[in-house]
Amino acid sequence: MKKRNLLPILLYAAVLLLLFAWVLGVFGDGTDTLTYSQIVEMFENEQVKSFTVSGQKIMLQLHNPYLGKTNLTCRLADVDSFRQEMRDTIQAQAESGVLESYDFLPQRGFSTYDLIIPLLIVGLLLLVIWVFLMGRLNGNNAMANFGKARTVLGVPDGKKVTFDDVAGADEEKAELQEVVDFLRDPKKYTQIGARIPHGLLLVGPPGTGKTLLARAVAGEADVQFLSISGSDFVELYVGVGASRVRDLFEQAKRIAPAIIFIDEIDAVGRKRGSGLGGGHDEKEQTLNQLLVEMDGFGRTEGVIVLAATNRPDILDPALLRPGRFDRQIYVGKPDVKGREEILKVHARNKKLDGDVDLKLVARSTVGFTGADLSNLLNEAAIAAARDNRPALNMTDLNDAIMKIMAGPEKKSRVANRKDLEVTAIHEAGHAVAMYFLPTQDPVLQITIVPRGGYLGATWHIPSDDSSNMTRNQMYEEIVSLLGGRVAEALFLGDISVGASNDIDRVSKLARDMVARYGMCEALGTVSYLSDGEVFIGRDFEKTKSYSEKVAGTIDDEVKALIDRAYGRCAELLKQNEDKLRQVADFLLAHETMTGAQFTACMEGREIGEAEAVTMFDAHREDQE
Ligand code: ADP
Ligand code: MG
Ligand code: ZN
Repeated sequence: MKKRNLLPILLYAAVLLLLFAWVLGVFGDGTDTLTYSQIVEMFENEQVKSFTVSGQKIMLQLHNPYLGKTNLTCRLADVDSFRQEMRDTIQAQAESGVLESYDFLPQRGFSTYDLIIPLLIVGLLLLVIWVFLMGRLNGNNAMANFGKARTVLGVPDGKKVTFDDVAGADEEKAELQEVVDFLRDPKKYTQIGARIPHGLLLVGPPGTGKTLLARAVAGEADVQFLSISGSDFVELYVGVGASRVRDLFEQAKRIAPAIIFIDEIDAVGRKRGSGLGGGHDEKEQTLNQLLVEMDGFGRTEGVIVLAATNRPDILDPALLRPGRFDRQIYVGKPDVKGREEILKVHARNKKLDGDVDLKLVARSTVGFTGADLSNLLNEAAIAAARDNRPALNMTDLNDAIMKIMAGPEKKSRVANRKDLEVTAIHEAGHAVAMYFLPTQDPVLQITIVPRGGYLGATWHIPSDDSSNMTRNQMYEEIVSLLGGRVAEALFLGDISVGASNDIDRVSKLARDMVARYGMCEALGTVSYLSDGEVFIGRDFEKTKSYSEKVAGTIDDEVKALIDRAYGRCAELLKQNEDKLRQVADFLLAHETMTGAQFTACMEGREIGEAEAVTMFDAHREDQE
């Protein structure tokens, strides 16, 4: 679908080239290439029978053929000087009869050719630019498809996707099975009078397989799949979006049974009147058309509309009314079993070393989406191939996990000594705080090797899938996140911007505790922040569902909470200053400290040799 039709552009380019070549005289533009002195020579040799000068051209008729021709046309750079220089010769030869006739036509240097050619070139250039631009805008042969839906017919990528390709989404698949049945045999349902939903909305974070599921439904039912992305509707030109919608539904009805899939529907289905700045009239038209089409087609037509979004909260409520997208299917991040199945699916076409334990990998990748896991295996495979190994192993997978979580390691970056010292104290602060906070995960590894956007990192053992956090847990997480900044302030006497990410997270956590989860006494058990707070358009004005007074209290409470956590952290780190400095010194000397080494240091034991630590270590013991 994304393949641009290059043929017209190439054709225009070729025509343009030919034109240029012509102008530059490569083909002689009807003139023969004679130099000025050659022309003069012809006169001196009494070869010229007659000639006519017109504009910049001189047409010569010769007594004897020159280069096999008796008629030559040449360009004269300067007609006036030719006329002056040759005046005597011409007169003498005309009198002697050698030169039978000659003529200097009066029109000077302005032939129609001289106008037509530049005009043609400009016109063609404009055409080429236009075609090119339209090609970019539409990703397609613009002139043919202007205003039409950009759709994928049939099976994308040439291979059919089925439910087998979607791993670990059993509930989602079960719900979609109904749709598959309906598409296979609509009569079965309509005879009983059963109402099959018009539209289903797949809701979930990016990379969880929504697009994949939609394709799989089409594959399972063996029907046509018309896919379009919400952002395709949003064009520069007024009216194009709406006509695309119309076209899309018409096409679907023609080829029914079919699935229409609207990816990223939030791009077009945003609440009306919420656009900031211009261009939202166009969006509203498109959305209105979509609503009209969804209402307008009967249930017997065998067309089902699927749509996907990760922002259901910003969709126009009209889209979610009965008869439109009245059913939502939540596609969440996979749990440990789901992750293992997804890994298995994507490992199918990869060579795995004997030591690879996908179960263990699944346990160590809490929070990864299907797209992350697919990416993980791919990264690992790339690493193996780079080292000329025939199969990928656990080390590749470990490196890939760390890379996906925090970006690639930057070993080549030479940090200066001062930066390293600050980072060492900072990370030691996090680690020591974590060590003394009962609800925090054990430290897995501390490092001052930069990675991604971070100067250093304190890795902890990822907690399990449970997303439920208690107040104490959240509070202690704030304390440990502050560890870096507090350590800098206490032991370096100055603070750095290295803690900015920590501070963002601290602020968000504290705000959530106070205003979202009702975890502070002053405000009571009230939620002032709704999920999915939006800062665009209409929501901009309506974010606050509380008074200025409450807003002030929220700010005060958030600050008080963070101050309290800061105090607790400072107290912890002061009491353990010598331990913290020991950890920082070790980091400066070795760059990396394993969890075991860290624990030994904290317990006052001797710090042993480092044994390589991987993301899998923590999950090995609790093998089922
Ligand atoms: P979304 O549309 O939700 O953002 P996609 O469907 O585009 O996510 O998923 C991106 C990729 O991630 C897919 O092409 C697939 O390779 C992989 N993926 C995601 N979820 C799954 C899953 N449940 N099973 C197998 N692969 C998955
Ligand atoms: Mg998608
Ligand atoms: Zn930090």
